[in-house]
Amino acid sequence: MGDILGERFVAADLEPMRDPHVEHRLCVRFAHPVRRHRMPKPEFDLVVIGGGAGGLVVAAGGAALGARVAVVEKHKLGGDCLWYGCVPSKTLLKSAHIAHNMRHADRWALAPSPPQPDLARVMERVAGVIRGIEPNDSPERFRGLGVDVIFGNGRFVGPDAFEVDGRRLTAKTFVIATGSRPGVPKIPGLDSTPYLTNETVFDLREPVPSLIVVGAGPIGSEMAQAFRRLGSEVTVVDIATQILPREDPDLAAVVFSALEAEGIRFCLGASVTGFAGRKGDVRVHLRLADGTPTELAGSHLLLAAGRTANVDNLGLDVAGVALDRGRIVANDGLRTTNPNIYAIGDAAGGYQFTHVAEHHAGIVLRQALFRMWWAKPSPVVPWCTFTDPELARVGLSETEAKQRGVAHRVYRFGFDEIDRARAESETEGFAKIVTDPKGRLLGAAIVGPHAGELIAEYVLALSKGMNAKDLTGVIHAYPTLAQINRRVADQRLKEGLTPTAKTWIQRIFGLRGARA
Ligand SMILES: Cc1cc2nc3c(=O)[nH]c(=O)nc-3n(C[C@H](O)[C@H](O)[C@H](O)COP(=O)(O)OP(=O)(O)OC[C@H]3O[C@@H](n4cnc5c(N)ncnc54)[C@H](O)[C@@H]3O)c2cc1C
Repeated sequence: MGDILGERFVAADLEPMRDPHVEHRLCVRFAHPVRRHRMPKPEFDLVVIGGGAGGLVVAAGGAALGARVAVVEKHKLGGDCLWYGCVPSKTLLKSAHIAHNMRHADRWALAPSPPQPDLARVMERVAGVIRGIEPNDSPERFRGLGVDVIFGNGRFVGPDAFEVDGRRLTAKTFVIATGSRPGVPKIPGLDSTPYLTNETVFDLREPVPSLIVVGAGPIGSEMAQAFRRLGSEVTVVDIATQILPREDPDLAAVVFSALEAEGIRFCLGASVTGFAGRKGDVRVHLRLADGTPTELAGSHLLLAAGRTANVDNLGLDVAGVALDRGRIVANDGLRTTNPNIYAIGDAAGGYQFTHVAEHHAGIVLRQALFRMWWAKPSPVVPWCTFTDPELARVGLSETEAKQRGVAHRVYRFGFDEIDRARAESETEGFAKIVTDPKGRLLGAAIVGPHAGELIAEYVLALSKGMNAKDLTGVIHAYPTLAQINRRVADQRLKEGLTPTAKTWIQRIFGLRGARA
């Protein structure tokens, strides 16, 4: 989360400030605010509710631009990503990855050695990494940037006022950045059964002999692999019939095979009908896909069954912010039904990723401070599930193209033909691109080693509306995994080489053809 700091935001995004028109507008807005209806001047330019990934970028960016900013945080600055999400999960996965490689060192012609994982030590490492990053998000740092950091639980008391512990905060613009929490299904017995969520799992210090994970999405799949590699028996349950249900089946299948080969058991297409048990002995009652009732037993239970936006008890009705089935109603510029209130990040209810929350923050700053009403979030949103192999995606998937009736072509290329992947004995997986019939990129997905890094090239290509052929002409260093990005795009070029096209090339350029 060091990369969400105000300085970086300023460096990257403040070019418009050098525009004299914008400077003039800034001047007008901050130095001579228009007094409408002789309303008392609001205390703040921006009040941000929630000091997590998105809220802190708004706060740091706003303060750096000269706005008077307050952040209201009910718990501790940093949000899910730092304390219960990206940072601890990726740290845990790294230790698990090393344990796995130690066990399977013969793959690289080295003697395997049993890793003897000690969960308490591993979780201390997780806590240490969080401690290392925490100062970037500390109240001291933000106060040093000029932000008023206010701890407490508050609510709107009017369309332009938010009250925290008796203190009334007025602002020209409010930003709801309250994130999300683990969804807890209403299933009989859960109230009396001990369970873990992402908010408690990283506090574990005791051994976990057997873990039942409810949910086979990104969080469930990552945690299942981490615990399995650290020595637990793991069973994953989901009502969906494939893991990572948002992804194309052929991509998800590669991850599924890897997890299954590592000994993770799956009950897919199964519905949970009840929970029972006590600490160290939990039971999950299921109805399997074929209707058979069954029971799973484990020492621990982890719920990873979706996320719920934190939009309760904020007084949204008093503020004129409408909700629709628990989601904040907002336009495509993130403005809610109260034009002075924005919703960003997980609370906005769309893609729930740190990079999306940060991106939303930049949009809100442009809209609220520079009055750039045309600023909208980019539709090109990448994401990655950090299992091994990783699965990363951006843009339209093959499944979505089919469902929406979009004319499309699909091209694939395997890591088994990439020399670097062979050198590293990590050849599972492939890259896939979806184009329109003329070759314009619609989407890309990679399942394999470092997919999360590799997808970046396609994020840029899609953002710039490129064609597959734009990538075929780009030099990629040899031997890198990134060559897969060019090789998959080459497939589109090769497709054009029909026998007729070849004959014409031979005729025009006087080629003699390959030896039969
Ligand atoms: C296990 C796990 C792994 C993840 N891994 C990744 C990953 O690898 N990559 C990725 O991009 N994303 C990942 N995510 C998602 C990512 O953590 C979130 O998308 C991101 O944190 C959302 O940022 P946000 O600003 O919307 O909310 P948050 O960062 O959660 O911040 C919300 C803040 O609001 C505060 N708050 C809540 N209610 C109130 C209130 N009423 N008043 C005041 N303050 C309040 C909270 O205490 C919190 O500090 C992961 C999530 C989980 C759970």
